[in-house]
Amino acid sequence: MDLSRREFLKGAAGIVLLAATPTAAQGQRGEGRRWAMYVDVAKCYGCYACVAACAAENNVPIGVFRTWVERVVKGDGTVVFVPKQCNHCENPPCVKPCPTGATYKTDDGLVLVNDALCIGCGACVKACPYGARFMDPVKGTANKCTFCDHRIYNGTLPACVEACPTGARVFGDLNDPNSEVSKHVRGGQVQVWKPAYGTGPQIYYDGLPREVEA
Ligand code: SF4
Ligand code: SF4
Ligand code: SF4
Repeated sequence: MDLSRREFLKGAAGIVLLAATPTAAQGQRGEGRRWAMYVDVAKCYGCYACVAACAAENNVPIGVFRTWVERVVKGDGTVVFVPKQCNHCENPPCVKPCPTGATYKTDDGLVLVNDALCIGCGACVKACPYGARFMDPVKGTANKCTFCDHRIYNGTLPACVEACPTGARVFGDLNDPNSEVSKHVRGGQVQVWKPAYGTGPQIYYDGLPREVEA
């Protein structure tokens, strides 16, 4: 087990009890954590193992995706691969338009959908500037990346992170200064997708090409 995984499990173990507590209400899973992902674009070679793992783990219907990998030709002609998914925005524009409160943000930074409250109006899908949401063709409710909440609250890394053969995706708690994700985000030259929107994305990239930043 590498250091990042040990760090993650140590942190995640502390919140299992909270997640299982019946009084742990929607939006209150925090315990001071702030989940985020760091993506090293140079390490992604477009194998799509993350996409397949996400689909299998989350029973994502055929033809729709919670994560995808874009092939980008840079200005100098070189090709890079950029994994994308919901950014779990700090100021998520998808939350406010939801008429039922089905889309909500947790205290520890996840943006989630409560299927039981979702009426399938699609307002959140239209409001997301990243195209990260879709209407589930089977359930008829809004669907998107959950940061694999069912896994992280049980001390396991998100399926896409675990499946990546090169370690291009790093997941953890930004409020823990010793977590690998913190060290990358606070110590490096990271970028976010579409910063001008002011959404505060929690997917941080190293090497995001200018061609996808706009
Ligand atoms: Fe909402 Fe889109 Fe931001 Fe995800 S990326 S939190 S779906 S606005
Ligand atoms: Fe809310 Fe569901 Fe409508 Fe999205 S589709 S805005 S989650 S009710
Ligand atoms: Fe899919 Fe989970 Fe990765 Fe989100 S964190 S893209 S739901 S595998």
